[in-house]
Amino acid sequence: MSSQVHQPPRRASSAPLALNANAADAPVSATLRMTEAVAARRAAGQRTIHLGFGEASFPLPVALREALARAATRTEYAPVLGLPALRAAIASYLTRTRALTATPATVAVGPGSKPMLYVLMCVLAGDALIPTPSWVSYAPQARLAGKNVYRVATDPGDNHRLTREGLDDALQAARSTGGDPRVLVVNTPSNPTGGMFAATDAEKIATWARGEGITIVSDEIYAELAHGWRPHTSPAQFYPEGTVVTGGMSKAFSAGGWRLGYVALPATSEGERLMAAVRSLASELWSSAATPLQQAAIAAFTYDAEMERYVRRSAQVHAHAVARLHAALTAAGALCPRPAGAFYLYPDFAPWREQLAHRGVSTSTELATHLLEHWDVATLPAIDFGESPDALRLRLATSMLYAPAGTSAVEQEAILNDLLAQADDLPGDGTLGTHMLALPALDEAAARLAEFTAALAGAAL
Ligand code: PLP
Repeated sequence: MSSQVHQPPRRASSAPLALNANAADAPVSATLRMTEAVAARRAAGQRTIHLGFGEASFPLPVALREALARAATRTEYAPVLGLPALRAAIASYLTRTRALTATPATVAVGPGSKPMLYVLMCVLAGDALIPTPSWVSYAPQARLAGKNVYRVATDPGDNHRLTREGLDDALQAARSTGGDPRVLVVNTPSNPTGGMFAATDAEKIATWARGEGITIVSDEIYAELAHGWRPHTSPAQFYPEGTVVTGGMSKAFSAGGWRLGYVALPATSEGERLMAAVRSLASELWSSAATPLQQAAIAAFTYDAEMERYVRRSAQVHAHAVARLHAALTAAGALCPRPAGAFYLYPDFAPWREQLAHRGVSTSTELATHLLEHWDVATLPAIDFGESPDALRLRLATSMLYAPAGTSAVEQEAILNDLLAQADDLPGDGTLGTHMLALPALDEAAARLAEFTAALAGAAL
């Protein structure tokens, strides 16, 4: 018998601070990068119209402020999956308002839906199907979790709709190169387009996923911010045993900094196993979301008449702002699908491709840089949403433009509360109507973009 020789384990690098391969080239999230660039420009005294970052920033409902103040002394850790009373409140909220079947046992709470989405990527088997365009973090998260990412093409000529054909093509392409997609990420309403699933599309996608044995991760963080002309429909309504829904406090309750999100899992034995895996990872990563914030969030998801009115009014102000910028962009000649929810627009500047090329702009990154440097407008390029470099689309967020630049925090709060108070005068169906809110910063953005396109249209080739 030969004796075994024990070799010391091979080391990847002898240098200190060497990085893991999947972290070595990972850039910072595109949205945060743009926000930092805008902050740096403003600190240097350069005016910037900030269409680059989507942050709901209405003043917090009074009941939530008071609930948080009362919970300030809650210094204990909460259970890993969340305070039982909060899980129960979210479950009954989802059941009551969203036609989902949730129970306290099928809901888990964490520090934002973003880490919840990452945990799902880590614990769910197989590779990921991710539509193009879609939110900046899905693909990086999937890759960090060791998944291959296969993009699903949508049709820019049809509001970037997700279709069975697109899904079939992506699945086939993935399988033909050895991939094994088992997770499909969807987002309705969508960041970046503001598009929402028609009920028939949600059903078709759900039926397709069930047929292929694919889990749907349905990011519904903007569900409450539907503009009113298309109802929110979750694929979970048609495929409850295979759909996982995420959401949180950041958009409907304007409380991104509270870092509170949730996941609702299927009420099946497989769902229970998934919950155990989520619990295990959460216990190793964050232990629990902040206890005072969880305690305060119970007041949000109890969703009494005050909360419901706050959310409805926020949605209506977002809808009005989006409709106004949409009207300006289409009048200027940009191709822009009509958003149905959230606070985003996704215009295409392809009609000016030649004129832009003349200025050295032939990619979305160059277009965003050009707009920032020459027109003081911050946007996010389509490439950050998974598009090919030459797609001349940009994501615009209206939500930072409801109060004029340079106003103090106290002035901003008064302005935003006044906008919310006027929301009941808006039509409630995403159309502009006759009541015009005073939105000077948004008007300035619209005028600047119109000037930009007019300059392009007038430019000699
Ligand atoms: N999903 C989408 C589509 C988003 O736009 C965002 C935030 O911008 C998130 C998830 C993350 O939200 P949270 O603040 O709950 O982590």
